[in-house]
Amino acid sequence: MIKLLRFLNPYRSLLVLVLVLAIGQTAANLYLPNLMSDIVNNGIAKFDTNYIWRTGRIMVLVAIGGTLCAVVGIYYSSQVATGMVKAIRARIFNKVQGFSLHEFDTVSTASLITRTTNDTTQVQQVMVMILNMLITAPITLVVGIILALNQDVGLSWILVVMMPVLVAIIIVLLIKAIPLFTAMQAKLDKLNLILDENLTGVRVVRAFNREKHEEQRFDEANRDVTDIAIRVNQMIASMMPVMMLMINLSSVAIIWFGSLRVDAGKLQMGAMFAFLQYATQILFALLMVALMFIMIPRAEASATRINEVLEMEPEIRDPEEPRQATQQRGYVEFQDVTFSYLGAEQPALSNISFSASPGKVTAIIGGTGSGKSTLVNLIPRFYDVDSGKILVDGVETREMSQEQLRAKIGFVPQKAVLFTGSVNDNLRYGKEDASEDELRHAAEVAQANEFITKMPEGFDSMISQGGTNVSGGQMQRLSIARALVRKPEIYVFDDTFSALDFKTDAKLRAALKGETRESTVLIVAQRVSTVIDADQIIVLEQGRVAGIGTHRELMKTCDVYSGIVSSQLSATEIAEETA
Ligand code: ADP
Ligand code: MG
Repeated sequence: MIKLLRFLNPYRSLLVLVLVLAIGQTAANLYLPNLMSDIVNNGIAKFDTNYIWRTGRIMVLVAIGGTLCAVVGIYYSSQVATGMVKAIRARIFNKVQGFSLHEFDTVSTASLITRTTNDTTQVQQVMVMILNMLITAPITLVVGIILALNQDVGLSWILVVMMPVLVAIIIVLLIKAIPLFTAMQAKLDKLNLILDENLTGVRVVRAFNREKHEEQRFDEANRDVTDIAIRVNQMIASMMPVMMLMINLSSVAIIWFGSLRVDAGKLQMGAMFAFLQYATQILFALLMVALMFIMIPRAEASATRINEVLEMEPEIRDPEEPRQATQQRGYVEFQDVTFSYLGAEQPALSNISFSASPGKVTAIIGGTGSGKSTLVNLIPRFYDVDSGKILVDGVETREMSQEQLRAKIGFVPQKAVLFTGSVNDNLRYGKEDASEDELRHAAEVAQANEFITKMPEGFDSMISQGGTNVSGGQMQRLSIARALVRKPEIYVFDDTFSALDFKTDAKLRAALKGETRESTVLIVAQRVSTVIDADQIIVLEQGRVAGIGTHRELMKTCDVYSGIVSSQLSATEIAEETA
């Protein structure tokens, strides 16, 4: 929690204002009983109507002043707290944007969402409370006691008895409540995880008829959260009546014993009433302190979770002095690259060396899990290599700024992702100032024109969340067009053509040729027909290079490759292609 207080910095002057207002409010509250005592003693007791009016007017003014302070104080403290939490949310979001894929592998998306929304709200609620009471309650406690004693020392034993009892009750409740708060956030995480899984996996849940099972899973998590919430709320709810009982008992005791003292002439009537009011204020302040002690641990649990995210150091960072790439445009080179995923026993890629140059098509083929996607993900530096080097335009990727590096690359991921917005918005994603013509042209090359023009509003048609209103193949083609709009130096197509039928695949690649004449093209593929006329084919097997060369060369020298070919093409086709 303390660490999050740095987000209050921009609000320093408002904070001072809030504190001054809180002091004003407290002062008014503490002054009123004094005035009342005066009215009773000097006005009512002596039948002095003038005095009653005069002091009464002052009382009304003080009361109005106190209320104003309270209202304005709450207004600004809410502003401070919400502003602070807005800054925290922005910081979390920015932090997460800078995460490399490694960090996403360690914190779940569901948890990141809970932390950005629910946890920040907890902090916000407590901040409002703290800002309003942190000053008021302690001042009321201390000054209230002094003023009460000033009215009458003889009744003070009632406070001496009541305060420890109240404190004891509070402590017992606290000890029971704190562990529940921490458990509550964890259960909430679980609930969000299940919800998230179900929403993103809704098709699978339906297809496998697992609705019942999922409902059960959700019910369980839901019940867990509810059980804890009920226990927490019962505790807070039981606290209120007990406290009120204590406060009322004190009032009775004060009037009872006060009357005896008034009767004996040891105490003035007004002093007794003032004492009564001070006692109530003191015990209420104690109650507020108790509430604060309950809320703070709860926010503390959330603050810790927020700090975990804020303190995560992204593994991939820009170098201090990024190097500019030389003139070569789009040259990619792997030098003895080895890479393993976090916690994996075997490297996903071992000793990969090759180079891909502009104007040439480099194809990567291999079975599923052979490391093709891993290889191309290393080029935009989504992950850092364990050993070896990756050079783009003659500069090691770790020595370039990520922005400069990625600006060179048109990346079409294996799993196409579109954003909510129109087709045009999606195509412009990599180049905001692209003209209509550029968009049309890219769509044409990507063989997407035909189906886009058939959509109800053509290029202005909306893509729904997650791209659910276009088919897998259409999504792929839009994703290809999006990369084409960028006119990058390096094209990476990660298994992008498998979702297309053979005819579209061939048409698309033919159209691409004209488009990518000066660029380096890397095509990951499963189908031999996709790679057959590439300038260079890299065959991957279990993260190692099994062979590099053209189709003809590999047919002679690489068993793995000829194995893949013979499993896909008939003998006559092989003969034709090799001839
Ligand atoms: P391909 O694209 O050739 O089908 P991948 O490059 O996706 O294969 O995967 C290569 C290997 O790395 C697989 O064994 C896979 O299980 C593993 N792998 C892929 N992504 C991750 C990840 N994020 N964390 C851990 N292991 C991964
Ligand atoms: Mg893959």
